[in-house]
Amino acid sequence: MDRLTALPALREVIAAHGLSARRSLGQNFLLDLNITRRIARAAGPLDSATVLEIGPGPGGLTRALLEEGAAKIIVVERDERCLPALEQIATASNGRLHIVSGDALSLDIEALASQHGLLRVVANLPYNISTPLLISWLKRLTLFDRFILMFQAEVADRLAAQPGTKAYGRLSIAAQWRCEVRPLFTLLPRAFMPAPKVSSTVVELTPRQHPLAEADPDILEEVVAAAFEQRRKMLRAALKRIFADPETTLKAVGIDPQARAETVGIEKFCALARELSRIRG
Ligand code: SAM
Repeated sequence: MDRLTALPALREVIAAHGLSARRSLGQNFLLDLNITRRIARAAGPLDSATVLEIGPGPGGLTRALLEEGAAKIIVVERDERCLPALEQIATASNGRLHIVSGDALSLDIEALASQHGLLRVVANLPYNISTPLLISWLKRLTLFDRFILMFQAEVADRLAAQPGTKAYGRLSIAAQWRCEVRPLFTLLPRAFMPAPKVSSTVVELTPRQHPLAEADPDILEEVVAAAFEQRRKMLRAALKRIFADPETTLKAVGIDPQARAETVGIEKFCALARELSRIRG
């Protein structure tokens, strides 16, 4: 612990290593120790977890996670300029920090989980790849025990949205079908350096033991994509592309054919997906 607290302040680290933030890498750094500690505590207890942090940057959140007692942290950083600062933290961490230099989008997550066990992802995600990253993890949920992730507030709203709201859509269904989604707290732009244009929200996603309702994942995705392709269309029109007789199918699963996708709950979409699987044999 003492060796971690003896590390230079983050502002000094950034200046010493010339870590001017790059927009192309979605770099908005967190320098406030109260905030990084709050995120680390939300991810706890950490003494028996393997934490995966995407995009540690200069290492503010990484340091908070170590100070909160993380047993093992794997960080994946694409910006090689950050590596010396991360090496310094690794040296002070008594072997608890492992650094992977590379692109999180091409990370072999199966290999990582088979080597280190269930992963708990804790990250202030680069906003430009936050959604594709989450979607790829949702497809491999058995490798993860929990996610504590910072998203742009608008993305967080979509993740947690309920039917009947404007934010409800494909992302809400993809996330909530298999996870419990809980927004934890929102940070104003000024919490970051540089300040982004919008607020950000930390969201907890906890994999469900079983999905909300039974469905083939690819078929469910196909049905939901068709339903939301033109959100203002009635479902009986929107689903023409995938069902020969959408009106009858919708009635058979208890959905008003005149309803719009944004009013339909996840269980009903699963019923439609099961129906499509049945029709296709
Ligand atoms: N964790 C730090 C913090 O909270 O201050 C930095 C967060 S910053 C929002 C996002 C970080 O992700 C940056 O350090 C950036 O270099 C890194 N990054 C961007 N694209 C990446 C990618 N494809 N793979 C891994 N890291 C990436």
